[in-house]
Amino acid sequence: MEEKKIVLTGDRPTGKLHIGHYFGSIQNRLKLQEQYETYILIADVQALTDNFNNPEKVRTAIKELAKDYLSCGIDPEKCTIYIQSMIPEIAELTVFFSNLVTVARLERNPTVKTEIAQKKELFGNNGESITYGFLGYPVSQAADIAVFNAELIPVGEDQLPMIEQTREIVRKFNSMYGDTLVEPEALVGKFPRIKGLDGNEKMGKSLGNAIFLSDSEEEIQKKVMGAVTDTSKIKKDDPANPEICMVGYYHKLFSNDSCKEVFAECRKGERGCVQCKKQLAKNIAEYLRPIREKRAYYDNNPEVIDKILIDGTNRARKKAKETMEKIKKNMRINYFVNE
Ligand code: SF4
Repeated sequence: MEEKKIVLTGDRPTGKLHIGHYFGSIQNRLKLQEQYETYILIADVQALTDNFNNPEKVRTAIKELAKDYLSCGIDPEKCTIYIQSMIPEIAELTVFFSNLVTVARLERNPTVKTEIAQKKELFGNNGESITYGFLGYPVSQAADIAVFNAELIPVGEDQLPMIEQTREIVRKFNSMYGDTLVEPEALVGKFPRIKGLDGNEKMGKSLGNAIFLSDSEEEIQKKVMGAVTDTSKIKKDDPANPEICMVGYYHKLFSNDSCKEVFAECRKGERGCVQCKKQLAKNIAEYLRPIREKRAYYDNNPEVIDKILIDGTNRARKKAKETMEKIKKNMRINYFVNE
């Protein structure tokens, strides 16, 4: 039987997942798990680069993230879900890889460059807030990938420079020590970016404009009632433009059957915003109902989550150890091992 290719994907545990994540990445992973051997990294070490003074936040988020995955249909029989800090081989390989990339090259990495510019703007201290850990992030990401010999990495266009950096490091390693590691390829996809309730281009945990997969019906209704609409509509029978209304935008995602009708009525001034929002909130709550119900099961059975994370991490660690043994053998630093 032909071996399945290894796909690696993951998230930083910084909070619960929202509908932006669902349409942007989870739906894609549900397809990937049917086709590939899928590794899902819960990148707690990466999350700590921004939360080093608040590890409790990361600790809580790990379990919330795992619950979100499983509630959405990520199958632990088909996917290996694991915690980054519990695979010491990743940290070990990061140290080795750090000798294969220059500081100048890291500073030129377009993704890093953009984030440094954002930090400078935010903190205004000419980059003094940039830590060694942050600059080295592409190196640790290369280790995340290479230690599992992952062949395919699902990314958006903007993440391509990060994958290129990994490929460079792997090529350099292989040219020094012989064919050891797999050079990964980017699996470029169009991952829809879902706008926030406030009309912001991005739905974000910290932006206060997100509907979380775990939100109750009441929470969903409350949030939808506050969504930004076409501000030119004052009275119930004023015609409006649903294309510039966030409620119209979400109707497209959640109200397949009635979306055409909603848009036509809105344009003709035949529907009020309150009724329109209530209908949308009901449709979103209905859409997310199976996820919420599954989540309630995991909330009541936390030991199931623990077992899935422990089993996944053990499986991942076994694979990482095998790769590290090969690496050390080829580097000739497998001291005292009889060959
Ligand atoms: Fe938006 Fe609906 Fe109001 Fe039209 S009727 S502006 S789509 S909330």
